[in-house]
Amino acid sequence: MEVYVVGYGGWISQPQLGYTSIFVKTDINLLIDSGECTYIRMAQCGLPWPHAVFVSHRHGDHILGIPTLMLMARKQGRRFSLIGSKEVLEAARSLATITGIENALQYVEFMEAQQEIVIGATKLRFTKTRHPVETLAVRVEHGGRCLVYSSDTAPSDDVMELARGCDLLIHEVSGNPGQEEEAHRLGHSTTRDAVEIAKGAGVKMLMPLHFYVEQPVMPPGVTVVLPTPCGKLVL
Ligand SMILES: [Zn+2]
Repeated sequence: MEVYVVGYGGWISQPQLGYTSIFVKTDINLLIDSGECTYIRMAQCGLPWPHAVFVSHRHGDHILGIPTLMLMARKQGRRFSLIGSKEVLEAARSLATITGIENALQYVEFMEAQQEIVIGATKLRFTKTRHPVETLAVRVEHGGRCLVYSSDTAPSDDVMELARGCDLLIHEVSGNPGQEEEAHRLGHSTTRDAVEIAKGAGVKMLMPLHFYVEQPVMPPGVTVVLPTPCGKLVL
C-alpha cells in the first residue's frame, strides 16, 4: 500500500499546504477527500487518475475539488466512483448543478458509504465522527496492510476502534496542546488528542494533518510521520 500526501491544511491555513487530501495506491487508486485545487495538486505530484474518490463530509475544504474531477472525467472520457454519505452525494450533485456541469454527472458512479465497501481487493470501512455535519472516518485495508483517516472530528472512541491495530492513523490536528476546549467545541482535535487516539488504537504510526496557521506541536508517545508535499509512504 502506497500513501501520498496531496494536501494537509485546514480550510484556513497556509496556502502552500493545500487542503487535507490523501492518495492511496493499492490494487486501485483511491483519493481521500478533495478540496479546492486537489486535481492540480495531484497532477503536480504525478499521481494517476483515481478509480474511486471518498469524500468524508460536505465542508468545502473536503469537497470543493469534486466539480473539477467531474469535469476532467468528462473531458478525458474516464469515470470514477464517488463514495460518501447520502448527504455528501447530494451535495456533490448540487455542486455539479450550481457550477453548470450537470452533463458530467454521467461519468460518476455514486456509491453510498454503507458499513463496508469492497472494490477489487481493497476493503473500506467507515464510522461516524464527532463533527458539526455528518462526517465519516474511513479504514482502508489491502494485502494485510491498513490505514485509517479520521477526517474532521473531536476525539472519538469510534475512530480509535476503527484504527485498532492499523499500520497508520492519519488524524486531524486543528490545535496544539492547551487548545482542547475550543477544538472540541468546534468538533476538532488537538495534537495531544491525536497522540492519545493513536496510542489507544495501538497503531504503528501517526500522521497529523489538517493544520491551521500554527505549527503542530506533537507530544511524545507514538511514532510520528510528518506530511510533506507529495510525500510518499509505503506501508
Ligand atoms: Zn469539517
